[in-house]
Formats: sequence, structure tokens, C-alpha cells
Amino acid sequence: MKVPAVFLDRDGTLIYDKHYLKVPQQVKLYAYCAESINKLKNAGYKVIVVTNQSGIARGMFSEHELGKVHDYFVKMLEMQGAKVDDIFYCPHIDEDNCKCRKPKTGMVLQAQKKHGIDIKKSFVVGDHIRDYQLGFNMGGKGILILTGHGKKQVQKIPNESIKPFAICRTLKQAVNLILKHKEK
Ligand SMILES: [Zn+2]
Repeated sequence: MKVPAVFLDRDGTLIYDKHYLKVPQQVKLYAYCAESINKLKNAGYKVIVVTNQSGIARGMFSEHELGKVHDYFVKMLEMQGAKVDDIFYCPHIDEDNCKCRKPKTGMVLQAQKKHGIDIKKSFVVGDHIRDYQLGFNMGGKGILILTGHGKKQVQKIPNESIKPFAICRTLKQAVNLILKHKEK
């Protein structure tokens, strides 16, 4: 049986945004991060991180360094009793024309294959226009949150383009909205 998922952006959504974060010491989880992940998992969602990491293509850090950051992130979560099902990242820049850089759906499709996900019932939550656009592009729903770059991004939503399914203050509110939506 296929299960729904909530795809979460990393920087500005789960952890504080640091410009081209490259060392584990810069990882700082939002206070509600672990709790939000657990709420989603208890409600039957897979929780999968999808993150654009163009710092790799730009030569600012290596995939190995990113791996260290993610190991640390996983460990921090574990200490708070939470665990994500998977982490996918895109190492490219727009000019690479890859299939994985959000709002393109490559990472979601990879996750769908690996975890048997019901995309229609799935959400993307993040602080960039690219995040909610991914939710739309994959055939699910996208929620824009106002942490990280969110407050600036919300003013940049183009008039004629698709709109987010919802705009929420933080990941915590987005999770509450998703769970309410599920009850219906
Ligand atoms: Zn890519």
C-alpha cells in the first residue's frame, strides 16, 4: 500500500538558515522541529527532507562535507527522539539543467520509487517559492512558511503564477494544518 509523505525543506524550515551552511556546528534545529516530525509520523506520513544544495556546484563545500552535516542533523534529531525517513539533496545550480533542483520533481520521484509514496496525498513544506511550486509540480500540495526566507519570499510570489495551498507562520503551524486536512 502506498503511503502519503510530507517533504520538508531543510534550511529555514527544519534548521535555522545559514548562508551556505557547511560545517555541522552551524546546524541549529528549530525548537519545534523534532515534535513536528513526530506528529507527522504518528499520523502515518513518511517524512522526507528535500534540499537544494547548490553550494556543491558552486564549490563552497563537498558532498562529503554535506554528508557530515546531515549525519550531525540526524544525530541531533535522534537525541530529541525524532527520525526522518530519508534525505535527498540536489547538488546543482539552475544552469546545470538537472531534473532534481526544486521546483523540479526529481528528488520527489526518487523518493516515490524508494518509499512507495502516494504523491496526490503528499505535501511539500518550505520557506521558498520553489518549495510550494514543487508541491504543485509533483501533483500534491505546497505550503509556504514564513521562517527563513519566507517573509521575503511571500512578497515575491508572481501575480499570475500558482499560489501556495497555504501560508503558515512556521513548520509547526503547517503540520497542524496538514493533520487537520487529513481528518477530513
Ligand atoms: Zn539537481
